[in-house]
Amino acid sequence: MNPSLPHIDWNPQLSGLPVYQPGRPIEDVARELGLEPANIIKLASNENPLGPSPLAVEAMAKAARSMHLYPDGGAFHLRARLAEALEVDPNQLVFGNGSNEVLELVAHALLRPGVNAVVSEHAFAVYPIVTRLMGADLIQVPAKKLGHDLPAMRAAITPDTRVVFVANPNNPTGTLADRGEVIELINELPDHVLLVMDEAYIEYLEHPLDLLPLIRRKDPANLLLTRTFSKIHGLAGLRLGYGIGHPEVISRLESVREPFNVNLPAQAAGCAAIEDLEHVQRSRANNQEGLRVWTMALRKMGLHFVPTEANFLLVEVGNGQEVFLALQSRGVITRPVGAYGLPTWLRISIGSGRENQKAIEALGEIMTQRQQH
Ligand SMILES: *Cc1c(COP(=O)(O)O)cnc(C)c1O
Repeated sequence: MNPSLPHIDWNPQLSGLPVYQPGRPIEDVARELGLEPANIIKLASNENPLGPSPLAVEAMAKAARSMHLYPDGGAFHLRARLAEALEVDPNQLVFGNGSNEVLELVAHALLRPGVNAVVSEHAFAVYPIVTRLMGADLIQVPAKKLGHDLPAMRAAITPDTRVVFVANPNNPTGTLADRGEVIELINELPDHVLLVMDEAYIEYLEHPLDLLPLIRRKDPANLLLTRTFSKIHGLAGLRLGYGIGHPEVISRLESVREPFNVNLPAQAAGCAAIEDLEHVQRSRANNQEGLRVWTMALRKMGLHFVPTEANFLLVEVGNGQEVFLALQSRGVITRPVGAYGLPTWLRISIGSGRENQKAIEALGEIMTQRQQH
């Protein structure tokens, strides 16, 4: 009745693997609480409240008619368009089923038992997962004011280090690394280490540190940037991300990539999304306005938060799990971050104007109630 599989010798890396905890889907919460999905808002996964680019939706619909065909494994058109937009060579790009997959390709290509990856405390959860999955060691460097301590991460590199993962801005903290410290890390990086700069939120920044010139001149060779269509392009459900780097690094990642990892509608939508500068512009403007409204509201509530330009805020609420549940029962889904070592904080994505209003109101009421007890 309770079948077990005693003879299967599972990969020992599976036990003790950190688990990625996604934001809860609206339908899920609606079922549990008996609420209408329409009355629930999700500010839990840093998704784009404006939705996908309309041009991308049109391209996907058109691509649907060709869905009996395998996608182009080399993503020819998407590669050409993106290379042109970024002013890099087409062989400097690798595509993934989300940028998560690109991080996994890095792990497959570089990590194994006996070597290590260097990450920051409170960094994006996928880095420890892919590192441990490959049986490699994880060197976790204490954060400085919740952000990456890049000089300490540089100092933590050993002869066995193969990868340094840096999220800039970081998720879930929203912290941005100091420009000088990023440049210094790149300049002092030992040749045997690949630096992965995860730039999932770079399009939201007003004056981002632009590392593309280094990629274009192919120096240093051991630098990989990762980006995604999940955030500002509003295509999280489609799963499309990419890495930008030296052709030799890219060709190594290509060699561990499965042949058809990026599906047909994703390639079509990606091409269209790149052209839709208006959607990107509107998304950035909505985010800046949302950040302004939230910042004022949080100050008024007397709540600490981490200053950011990303599309989410890390807010200190006392007991993150309890406030998460209280918000959820009012139809506002946010993200508790206890698993990131931040049990007193809550991560809240920036929504539409209406969503922000509703969430701010709910949070204000909850915090007032809690302060009275
Ligand atoms: C959201 C996010 C990504 C994007 O993941 P996708 O697989 O491209 O959806 C990557 N890195 C960080 C730090 C993120 O927060």
